[in-house]
Amino acid sequence: MRLCRFDAGAGPRHGVIEDGYVVDRDDAEERHPLEEVRLLAPVLPRKFLAIGLNYADHIAESGMEAPQFPVFFNKQITCVVGPDDDVHMPRVSNLLDYEGELAVVIGRRCRHVPEDRALEVIAGYTITDDLSVRDWQLRTPTMTMGKSFDTHGPLGPWLVTVDELGDPHDLRLRTYVNDELRQDSNTGEMIYNCYQQVAHLSQAFTLEPGDVIATGTPAGIGAVRQPFPEGLLKVGDVVRVEIDGIGELRNTVVEEPDGFVVPESEEARQWAH
Ligand code: MG
Repeated sequence: MRLCRFDAGAGPRHGVIEDGYVVDRDDAEERHPLEEVRLLAPVLPRKFLAIGLNYADHIAESGMEAPQFPVFFNKQITCVVGPDDDVHMPRVSNLLDYEGELAVVIGRRCRHVPEDRALEVIAGYTITDDLSVRDWQLRTPTMTMGKSFDTHGPLGPWLVTVDELGDPHDLRLRTYVNDELRQDSNTGEMIYNCYQQVAHLSQAFTLEPGDVIATGTPAGIGAVRQPFPEGLLKVGDVVRVEIDGIGELRNTVVEEPDGFVVPESEEARQWAH
C-alpha cells in the first residue's frame, strides 16, 4: 500500500493511493484525483533521526575518515514539510545543500530490536532531502542547527509499506537539481543498512510509530562541486529526489519569507494533550 496524508481543501486527511486517486481513509467514500490534492508529509514524526557518512563514495568526497560507529544526529521535527512544498534559503546563510535519502518510518513502539527482526517494527519507506546549511552544520560538533532549519526536512510523496516495497537495499536513488543529475546511487551501497540502523538506535531509546530515520546520502552533494560554491542551491532551484519503487520528492528553493513561523498543526495539538 501507498499511504499518504493530503489536503483536498478540508484540512489534513489520511489517504491511500490507488490508480491515480487518493482514497480518503477517514471517509472511504471520498476519492480525489491525485493531481487535485496537496500531498502533505506522510507522517509527522516525533523523532527525526539521520545518519551521516553512510555511503563510502560520500565519505570519500567529503575527505573524511570512515567513522568507527554510526554517526547519528537529529533533525528538529519543525523542519518537516510536504513532498511538493517550498524550502527556504535561510536569511542567515546562502550555503544551502541537498542530500537525497531513503527514509525509514517506524511502525511499532520498540526497544532493543535485533537486526534480524527490524523488519517487524518498520511500517514502510519514504523519501527525504536532508537539506543542510553547510556553514551552520560544520560550525559546531552536533550539526543540530545546520540540519534543522525550518522546511529542511521534506518527506514524501507517500509511505510505501514494507510488503509492497520489498527489499529496501536494492533501490536506485537519484537527485536532480533543475533536471541536472547530481546523485545516482543505489541503497545497497549503504554502510549500515536500514535494519542495522534500527537495531543500533533502539539500543539506546524507544522508537515510536511515525519516527523517521534518514539513512544517509551518496556522493554528489553540492558542497564538493567545483568551483565552490557553484554546486550549492540557489533561490529558484528545483530539487528532485527519486527512489525506484517509491516515487519522487520535488521541492523549490525560495527566499525565507519575512515573519515565517511553522504553523501549529492539528497533530501537534493532539500530542500536547
Ligand atoms: Mg544526510
